[in-house]
Amino acid sequence: MLNPLAVQLLMPLAGSRGVDNIFESLSDVAPELRNLVSSYEGVRGPVCEAHRVFLSPSGEQAVVLSCTIIKINADTLMTVLTDISRQVEAERRARQNEAWLSGIYTSVNDFAFFTLDAIGNIDSWNESVKQVTGYGSIDVIGRPLSLFYARDDVDPYRFPEHIALTREEGWHVQDSCCQAKSGSLFYAQLLVAVLREDNGEFAGYSVVLRDVSERKISTDELTRLLTTDHLTGAANRAHFFKNAEKELTRSIRQGRPLSFLMMDADHFKRINDTFGHPAGDDVLKRIVAEAKRLLRTGDMIARLGGEEFGFMLPATTHKEAIAIAERIRAAIEATTIPTALGDSQVTVTVSLGCASLGESGGTMNELLATADRALYAAKATGRNRVNGS
Ligand code: GH3
Ligand code: MG
Ligand code: MG
Repeated sequence: MLNPLAVQLLMPLAGSRGVDNIFESLSDVAPELRNLVSSYEGVRGPVCEAHRVFLSPSGEQAVVLSCTIIKINADTLMTVLTDISRQVEAERRARQNEAWLSGIYTSVNDFAFFTLDAIGNIDSWNESVKQVTGYGSIDVIGRPLSLFYARDDVDPYRFPEHIALTREEGWHVQDSCCQAKSGSLFYAQLLVAVLREDNGEFAGYSVVLRDVSERKISTDELTRLLTTDHLTGAANRAHFFKNAEKELTRSIRQGRPLSFLMMDADHFKRINDTFGHPAGDDVLKRIVAEAKRLLRTGDMIARLGGEEFGFMLPATTHKEAIAIAERIRAAIEATTIPTALGDSQVTVTVSLGCASLGESGGTMNELLATADRALYAAKATGRNRVNGS
């Protein structure tokens, strides 16, 4: 007995031999079937299970049948034929991918590859990671990605942000200072990408960790030049706005407060006119140095122009920001700056305006415009003061 599908599978193979006898039909492609059956000694049971029969390739892709023969009694065999060509092709591709990947793992020794599970813990491991970080699989399985970050590193937001941005954007690259098991520090570029199951379900993350220490050293100076104001060492305008935008998005997403300050030196023209432009430059440097002493990790000061500065204060409420602004104001007022003119000293005061996320709007433009208005209100009401929005 044959069902229609069996006829359809066997017809092209059987040709003039017909489909009445399966051994005959398949004699060109699977002559071993007859032997398998005749050498089967049991009274009943499986003669062969998922035995693969490779048919001559038609076109590009080989056609493969899976053949299961079960002996039911001395006279009866039941045969199940399944076309498994697609499965075999998928296996071939998987083997090819595996071969490519293992080629990469073994020949590229400054890249490490591994995966994280859905909550961000390392769940698969490769020798390449040991080459780069010195950690073996027992050290890392089940540990978070932050295991590799340098312990004394200063950016508290880096790790959660990296994973959160990967979830949002599908993938994310970040340069971080990392620490090998031996304790030695290196700069690594971490590429994290979302891994999905075939059905699209989120499954975890794949990570490529690459030691970029050499490149980092040569680009550190370039980065500094591109991001800082060379007179004062504060961040430059472009760098400030880029970071402020990012921080704003992050703060809104995480529901954290964020405040900005605008600061302008009071009567600065007079300082230049009285003591000369170089003395004015020294005053600007000193203003930044004094303010920096009062900032915390993650805060940023930038020179937005002439004698005008901006501060970004993440995770800082309006009230806290006003207190910080007041400390900055007082510290600068208390500073005396020596000049080249004999033993004369310069003093300077500043005015500050403050704006915070939520209270002063939600976009960068709204926040900075509010801080600017607050600053000019501080100027208008006598200078050397802090004004909230
Ligand atoms: P106000 O209290 O209203 O802010 O008075 P101000 O004199 O500070 O006002 P204004 O903003 O008009 O003057 C800013 C001065 O800062 C003018 C400019 O010459 C000076 N300035 C801008 N950039 C520099 C710099 O890099 N070095 C020095 N020494 N002076 C600068
Ligand atoms: Mg001024
Ligand atoms: Mg000004």
